[in-house]
Amino acid sequence: MSTPERAPMHSSNERTKALREKVIEYAKRRMELDPAPLDRPQTLDYLQQVVPPTITEAGLGGERALELFAEVLAPASLSTDHPGYLSFIPTAPTEAATLFDLVVSASSIYGGSWLEGAGAVYAENEVLSWLAREFGMPESAGGVFVQGGTIGNLSALVAARDHAKRRLAAESCQQPPRFAVLCSAEAHSSIKSAAAVMDIDVIKVPVDSSGRMTAAAVAQTLETNPDGVFAIVATAGTTNFGIVDDLTGIGSIARERGIWFHVDGAYGLAAALAPSSRHLFEGAALADSAIVDPHKWLFAPFDACALIYRDPEIARIAHTQYGEYLETLNKPGEWNPSDYAFNLTRRVRGLPLWFSLATHGATAYREAIEENISLAKLIAAEIESRDYLRLVREPELSIVVFERNGWTLEDYEIWGADLLEKQIGLVLPSSLNGRPHTRFAIVNPRTTFELLVEILDTMKP
Ligand SMILES: *Cc1c(COP(=O)(O)O)cnc(C)c1O
Repeated sequence: MSTPERAPMHSSNERTKALREKVIEYAKRRMELDPAPLDRPQTLDYLQQVVPPTITEAGLGGERALELFAEVLAPASLSTDHPGYLSFIPTAPTEAATLFDLVVSASSIYGGSWLEGAGAVYAENEVLSWLAREFGMPESAGGVFVQGGTIGNLSALVAARDHAKRRLAAESCQQPPRFAVLCSAEAHSSIKSAAAVMDIDVIKVPVDSSGRMTAAAVAQTLETNPDGVFAIVATAGTTNFGIVDDLTGIGSIARERGIWFHVDGAYGLAAALAPSSRHLFEGAALADSAIVDPHKWLFAPFDACALIYRDPEIARIAHTQYGEYLETLNKPGEWNPSDYAFNLTRRVRGLPLWFSLATHGATAYREAIEENISLAKLIAAEIESRDYLRLVREPELSIVVFERNGWTLEDYEIWGADLLEKQIGLVLPSSLNGRPHTRFAIVNPRTTFELLVEILDTMKP
């Protein structure tokens, strides 16, 4: 039996050129599709039947593996940048950002320390400083790009609790029996997850009729829960409705009482860049920490969350990992991104956003976000004009929630499955107080009014 000649694994030369070109060609073609097919998930059974074993002693060869990806695996994965992908929070990377993600992949830069990644970290920090300025945070603010909002929220809360503990110790005060974080009843599930990891309590503040956490409600909740609250999390754009809590009022209360103020803006804080909605985010200037996900509404590919602290030193004390082989890294004046979150090794995942911002300039970002917000308002008006639809809440940012009169959850599911089958869009049901509805989450500049109208038409009686 003859053994097929194996391609060398660690050289990039004439013999590996064909595969190099095929893979780059694939990436290039995918980027040129406008739009890329939406595609659809497949069952485990289907994939087990169609995909032969791929991990073998001899290897399949790159061309065969790429072919399997292109023909079976990729089509069984949704394109979240499709203009009709309107559920959850979609993504819509710019071409510049996607291109630079390829460069980051090809560059093997370790983004955890200044020693290893100074130049790349410098560029990432330029973006973090720019964002901090936009949010009204001081010059000294800084942080790190982490994997997503979940890790961003966890890291911020870990820093906040560490700070609270040290302060109590310094003042010779007793530690409370339980630490607790206060957030809105509509806060993202990641706050609860962070609390579970940290073994702390979550106190939910009821929202007003528009879904907003108000300063009065926070004050009232604090009255009955005086001990142990070390942080208040305000949401700057809830995931379901895009509602922005009263950041100024809540931030002021947190300040007065010496409680850490964290702004979870994973989706919505990007809208602080848009002149028309900037006023909603003025209170972000009071934040001790804030997050925004570039992979949501800042047109960057997965995965990136900008985590910013007012006083990064607090986070550095809480998060720096010590180990003999790491000692050489902790030199004054050098920014080690790993020290500012629950992470060590990291990709320089802020660079795709950096490159795209450097390419297009901030104004293009403001305009693109503004356009999404205008489209949300336009389609909300269209929904209100149709007698078989009901707008659940006036959109504040770019999420439009509405009901089809008389539809049960099952009706939405059947309709949504049909839209996916026809490859028009991904529009899933959600609910409020047990009442089903559906929503358009608009963060993709390729999503048009015409497409949304086409979708509304499919709901006609
Ligand atoms: C999406 C979201 C998160 C979680 O972010 P991931 O990047 O998915 O981990 C947290 N908070 C809010 C408000 C979100 O919309």
